[in-house]
Amino acid sequence: MIPSRLYVHIPFCRSICHYCDFPKVIYSPRWEREYVPALLRELSSFSPARGSFETIYLGGGTPTSLSEEGTRVLLGELRPLLREGGELTVEANPESLDEERARLLFSLGANRLSLGAESFRPDYLRLMGRRHAPADIGRAVLAARKAGFRNLSLDLIYGLPGEGLPELQEDVEALLALAPEHLSCYSLSVLPGTRLFLEGFHEEEDEALREQYDWLRARLGEEGYERYEVSSFSLPGFRSRHNLGYWMDEDYLGIGMGAAGAIGGRHYRNSLSLSRYLKGEGREWEEVPTEQDRLEYYFLTRLRLREGFPLEEFERKFGFPFLSRYGERARSLERKGLALLEDGRFRASDEGLYLLDRVLLALF
Ligand code: SF4
Repeated sequence: MIPSRLYVHIPFCRSICHYCDFPKVIYSPRWEREYVPALLRELSSFSPARGSFETIYLGGGTPTSLSEEGTRVLLGELRPLLREGGELTVEANPESLDEERARLLFSLGANRLSLGAESFRPDYLRLMGRRHAPADIGRAVLAARKAGFRNLSLDLIYGLPGEGLPELQEDVEALLALAPEHLSCYSLSVLPGTRLFLEGFHEEEDEALREQYDWLRARLGEEGYERYEVSSFSLPGFRSRHNLGYWMDEDYLGIGMGAAGAIGGRHYRNSLSLSRYLKGEGREWEEVPTEQDRLEYYFLTRLRLREGFPLEEFERKFGFPFLSRYGERARSLERKGLALLEDGRFRASDEGLYLLDRVLLALF
């Protein structure tokens, strides 16, 4: 059966950010003309019926880098596939979301926008190689509200080189002033192959990041944002339904260059090469994960959620009780204050969510 979640990857960006290791290429109209039909061909190979998907997520890259025509064609095909009351998210960069584009997306069925705000400081935006200016963020939010969007998520990156608590506080207050329904807050990763890495930048010290994360969590909590996942905060009723599917270890269909998917016990990733994808050589790999892979993937996704997982769900999925194999390790994590076994669930504690790698290492 086809999964109820669809991820659509739009790999085009107008320029490349200095920290980015997502699958992307510089936008060209010629490639867009070939890419949109290739996406639709891949989608139709799964024969989705009307209303197949509870959530559809256009991510990137930069989905708002598509032309008006490309956007119309793509969303025109996707919209009928969304169930009544479904969630259709489009990622957007602030400089590429004016009122006209926001109205177009809303009229084509998008009902949630995820905006890559990242920072309100011009020096940090420059350091990250972002194209937008701080003022573009407020303009994009206003454009989205005017177009009718009632569900907005903003991304923030903290832990930038030299960033201290006062700078983070400035950024967070500017974000809060825009009253988004959802926030995703990530500390900067300096990954091999990125420009920041090649220029010798490093991630900040754990202690400084910890102070920033703790302050962030407390401040957002004061404003009514619940941290329901390691990096995700939402007002009541505004959790990302699409991303919850990943974190609940549900199947999903991913289409497009570099997209991943999980269907009926098989996992796959599409080609990271645009030319190969366009030629129809879609898959980079496809495999049936081993039991150990499935267990690790389950812990990796499920424990990102603050509520962890019900022990009975674990047993249903894997055919043996969690405590029979992991009881000792789970209790040791509990003694260290990193996890909790309570009310028939296993979950990371607040400390454990921050130090999730340590929780996962103990279980793997
Ligand atoms: S806009 Fe997003 S996908 Fe594109 S280069 Fe920047 S971070 Fe990467």
